Amino acid sequence: MIVILLGPPGAGKGTQAEAISKSLNVPHVSTGDIFRANLEHGTALGLEAKKFMDRGELVPDALVVKLVADRLSKPDAASGALLDGFPRTTAQAQALSDILAAQGKKVDVCLLLEVPDADLVARLSGRRICRSCGGSSHVVYSPTKKENACDKCGGEIYQRDDDKPATIQSRLDVYHKQTKPLVEWYRGQGNLRAIDGSAAPGVVGAAITKALSE
Ligand code: AMP
Repeated sequence: MIVILLGPPGAGKGTQAEAISKSLNVPHVSTGDIFRANLEHGTALGLEAKKFMDRGELVPDALVVKLVADRLSKPDAASGALLDGFPRTTAQAQALSDILAAQGKKVDVCLLLEVPDADLVARLSGRRICRSCGGSSHVVYSPTKKENACDKCGGEIYQRDDDKPATIQSRLDVYHKQTKPLVEWYRGQGNLRAIDGSAAPGVVGAAITKALSE
């Protein structure tokens, strides 16, 4: 099963992804996480991606598409994948459909998490990420028990450079301009399921489970 998690930055895609990938038994493929892991390891790909990420811009399609094509060719993705943060442009959506068609597959469901922009700014500016497990917390909505330590693994938490106020607005602009057209793209294909992402994580998770079972 190929499932896409679509939605603006801060909509809760990463938060929901773990449970969805477990319940569908498919790997969670987050292009943002892959870029950040590459950056942590100082790879050429990570350093190239950082130039765009720091400005809140999208990494060029060719780079992202190659990365996803490689990832989907791995044995653990043979039965499907949960794509989080990809595709983000119509060119990427077309490339994905070509990659999948070559494997006799297609996108089964595109889950759209909808959250108003004002809420996204508050969510993103207070978000903190664990350097070890990638889990997220929020300084106001879900603070960690110990300051600067992840509740799950004790790892050091930090603020992503692109979650700083100067970059947040450009990421939202990029979403509206370059990614939002995908809503109509997948609606046209009949596989869009819109979910109210402004509810509490548990409520959103339940709505996703229901949408996937339909
Ligand atoms: P995310 O963690 O999904 O918010 O992604 C963080 C950043 O990584 C984005 O703001 C982009 O700069 C880059 N990125 C992640 N996924 C993509 C993609 N599919 N296309 C282009 N850039 C991406």
